[in-house]
Amino acid sequence: MRIAIIGAGIIGVNAALALRAQGAEVTLYDREGVAAGASRGNAGIFADYAVLPEARPGLRREVPRMLLDRNGPLSIRLRYLPKLLPWLREFIREGQPERVGRSTDALAALMKWVRPDWDRVLQEAGCEDLRVSRGVLHLYRSPRAMHATLPDWQVMGAHGVPFEPVMGQALRDLEPAVSRDYQAGVLMPALSHALDPLGLTERLAAHARARGCEFRQTEVSAISSTETGVCLHFPGAGTRAFDRAVIACGAQSLALTRPLGLRVPLESERGYNVTLPEPSVMPGRPICLPGQGYYMTPMAIGLRIGGRVELGGLAAPPRWSRADAMLRHARGVLPGLEAKGAKRWMGHRPSLPDTLPAIGPVPGQPNILTAFGHGHLGLTLAATTGRILAEMIYEIPPEIDPTPCLPSRFL
Ligand SMILES: Cc1cc2nc3c(=O)[nH]c(=O)nc-3n(C[C@H](O)[C@H](O)[C@H](O)COP(=O)(O)OP(=O)(O)OC[C@H]3O[C@@H](n4cnc5c(N)ncnc54)[C@H](O)[C@@H]3O)c2cc1C
Repeated sequence: MRIAIIGAGIIGVNAALALRAQGAEVTLYDREGVAAGASRGNAGIFADYAVLPEARPGLRREVPRMLLDRNGPLSIRLRYLPKLLPWLREFIREGQPERVGRSTDALAALMKWVRPDWDRVLQEAGCEDLRVSRGVLHLYRSPRAMHATLPDWQVMGAHGVPFEPVMGQALRDLEPAVSRDYQAGVLMPALSHALDPLGLTERLAAHARARGCEFRQTEVSAISSTETGVCLHFPGAGTRAFDRAVIACGAQSLALTRPLGLRVPLESERGYNVTLPEPSVMPGRPICLPGQGYYMTPMAIGLRIGGRVELGGLAAPPRWSRADAMLRHARGVLPGLEAKGAKRWMGHRPSLPDTLPAIGPVPGQPNILTAFGHGHLGLTLAATTGRILAEMIYEIPPEIDPTPCLPSRFL
């Protein structure tokens, strides 16, 4: 089978590996090269604990604050609000308790496969050195602030996520560099993280090449269904025929799905990072500041402070004051943090309102499949997404029920 994959981020590259393993002749297209988008600068967490969706009850009340606080953990660009409204409405709706429950079950079913699927991919590609398992620590100013999040931890615990509270001296011993303003933490000892998200995507891509996948640095301007398969269209009128096409263009996927008649509420959750090559203090493991919406991840390339959400669309230039505010906050958590040589970055998380990706055939066009919308969890779910696509395309009896992720759920 000849399969075209459009988008060489962490999702497209994993799709290429999984489909090549089934014997497909794979051609991977990206207009900018490997990992040009969100996969380049993420926080590197294999977050298989994240069974709770982003949308939660009470969201509506938060909107005014999101509009006013330009540099806060979650902000909305006022000018973008009219365009954002349809997505925001859906997102708020997904915060209803029964919908939260449904997404939680679906996410938990996916998360069970994250570790074994990544184990296999990293082992086959010889990239195990780029993942380490040192756990992840969620940090709170007070035991009271930690207790307020207990209901969430109980849900995660019920889905098999191991965690343990760490207080007072035990917290000091675990992370001596953390300011004494922080008195409580929750450690998930089993979690792992990537030491270099860009390097990981590049090495997996090199492995895919070595396995026979073809790479083309070319934009795909449209895809159409033909009687026997699909046709890719390139700027300047060139075309090429394939048996199947997989759209893995992250937050930019709508440019290809809209002309197909597929209506998917995809939005960019813009995120920022600052990577400090010589931070002078380094935590032993990734630290998450849940109220602040960012991680500090110790990587081979330095300390990456990354996360937060800005709803402002694909076109607006970065608002670097958001990255600077995150760095300022991080300096309060890790006193003595050195910013020499700091590099700032902004990327687009491809987000759907129910926190689930869209993986599967475009309704009515079975040879064109989607693999986007992984939001905050694209690195986490990439290997599992590759497996789901392979099961779909090669009609392998599925080990994971793909129904909650099908793009047809938006019809
Ligand atoms: C600040 C931040 C922190 C994050 N932290 C984490 C984390 O800790 N853990 C986690 O699991 N996830 C995290 N994420 C999310 C994760 O990075 C994304 O979900 C994931 O990278 C999405 O991968 P992708 O391959 O779908 O998209 P992308 O990486 O964006 O790749 C899409 C590719 O498609 C190409 N493309 C687009 N249109 C076309 C076209 N028409 N023709 C050809 N090529 C095209 C682009 O050039 C791009 O290379 C984070 C994201 C951000 C922004």
